[in-house]
Amino acid sequence: MTEAFFDSMLQLITRTSTDLPPDVRAAMKHAMGQELPGTSAAHAMAIIAENIDQAADGEGAICQDTGMPTFEVKVPVGANQILLRQQIRNAVAEATKRGKLRPNSVDSITGKNSGNNLGPGTPVVHFEQWERDDIEVRLVLKGGGCENSNAQYALPAELAHLGRAGRDLEGVRKCILHAVWQAQGKGCAPGAIGVCIGGDRAAGYLHAKEQLFRTLDDVSPDPRLAELEAQIMATVNSLGVGPMGFGGAVSLIGCKIGALNRLPASFFVSVAYDCWAFRRLGVVVDAQTGAIREWLYVDPKHPAPAMVGAGVSGFKKTGLEKALRPPVEEATIRALHVGDIVLISGHIYTGRDAVHAHLMKNDPPVDLRGGVIYHCGPVVLKEGDTWRVMAAGPTTSIREEPYQAHVVSTFGVRAVIGKGGMGAKTLAALKESGAVYLNAIGGAAQFYARAIKKVTGVSLMEFGTPEAMWHLEVEDFPAIVTMDAHGNSLHRDVEEASGKQLELLRTV
Ligand code: SF4
Repeated sequence: MTEAFFDSMLQLITRTSTDLPPDVRAAMKHAMGQELPGTSAAHAMAIIAENIDQAADGEGAICQDTGMPTFEVKVPVGANQILLRQQIRNAVAEATKRGKLRPNSVDSITGKNSGNNLGPGTPVVHFEQWERDDIEVRLVLKGGGCENSNAQYALPAELAHLGRAGRDLEGVRKCILHAVWQAQGKGCAPGAIGVCIGGDRAAGYLHAKEQLFRTLDDVSPDPRLAELEAQIMATVNSLGVGPMGFGGAVSLIGCKIGALNRLPASFFVSVAYDCWAFRRLGVVVDAQTGAIREWLYVDPKHPAPAMVGAGVSGFKKTGLEKALRPPVEEATIRALHVGDIVLISGHIYTGRDAVHAHLMKNDPPVDLRGGVIYHCGPVVLKEGDTWRVMAAGPTTSIREEPYQAHVVSTFGVRAVIGKGGMGAKTLAALKESGAVYLNAIGGAAQFYARAIKKVTGVSLMEFGTPEAMWHLEVEDFPAIVTMDAHGNSLHRDVEEASGKQLELLRTV
């Protein structure tokens, strides 16, 4: 039983990380059809669709951020939970070794990465007993960008653009709209949200996350919550946040709401935001043999159709793309404007939180003059003396806001690739130094991994795999200019415009 259960868990983790469930695929396919051809939103959706197919075909991680593995396990009375937990942990470590999960568990004080996704609190495993004879295991992989977009409100509250949110369903509606607006491109829209009304702070967040185990077409059995879910879905996409926060037709593909009793003095609304890479699957396991008896969310008789079709590329070159080959001259950068699509070929360097903090006090380990920094924590496997990039999408750039202006102006960086955009300080530094911010499509880890031809080196490996500075040789790596060297920012514009739309939803 032990060995078979380990194997079942390894299958569950692998498939969850690499193959989006059919309900999410269907919602994304519908969303694709809503975006106007030729827009940045349509460009983002085309790359996302291609990435979903590539991940499933090659059994690679859909997004390089495989998140905090969270298992919900239902067991028959008398099942040995200690043994089951150990096998789940073993399967998580093995999936990490095989590159299906990124090593994501770091010591909260020292920042040291455990390297195998095991550590205090990692992975999250919740057990519950039930009256059935089999074991049910559901898994959700939710990354940092969307986890950081979660929100919890204590009502009554004053909300930007929406005014007073009171202790009633109307107040809850405002909180949900506010959470979606606030996520912008940081949570890789279009996303889905789970909501909990009530509970205490801890139970509220947990119950909100549990709503993400419902399928996108599920309707709440509580007619009041069902009505609110429908109302949100009928109005939320008028916000215009759009895919990746580029502006567009679809910001949200699902809203599932639950409720818990609360203390009379407290009224929390907890929102668990998940991105388009909404990785959630489950299995029913035979408690005697440990083998999988049934997959949840997936109908083996009706395999999900491809998003764009075998051998077809979602992203198509138009000939209008601008080539960037580092080291890049200032004049080349000043000729770029928000909305331009660039194709980068040559050497780029990854750098996220640890690298940026390091560069505040130290010189870079490589010459960054004219160079390109990629906000990315890739999944990388060692093969003999070389490294292979398994997944390499962008991470949320705003975390580097305290550092980016210094790094750009001190070391002569000409382009920063990331997702979700950056703030006013970085925008000013781009203008002054002659540099641009390039938005890659969040979560498209397989798509971008294919644009990386070679790992030519690595620096600062002491920070762990995701945080190290990887030296990458890329070819035709596409990205959109969303902050240019003339003081323009698509992110600022969309946030302002969607804020005005939010005001229109103040009352219904
Ligand atoms: S798709 Fe975006 S928000 Fe979601 S896990 Fe990946 S990087 Fe994070």
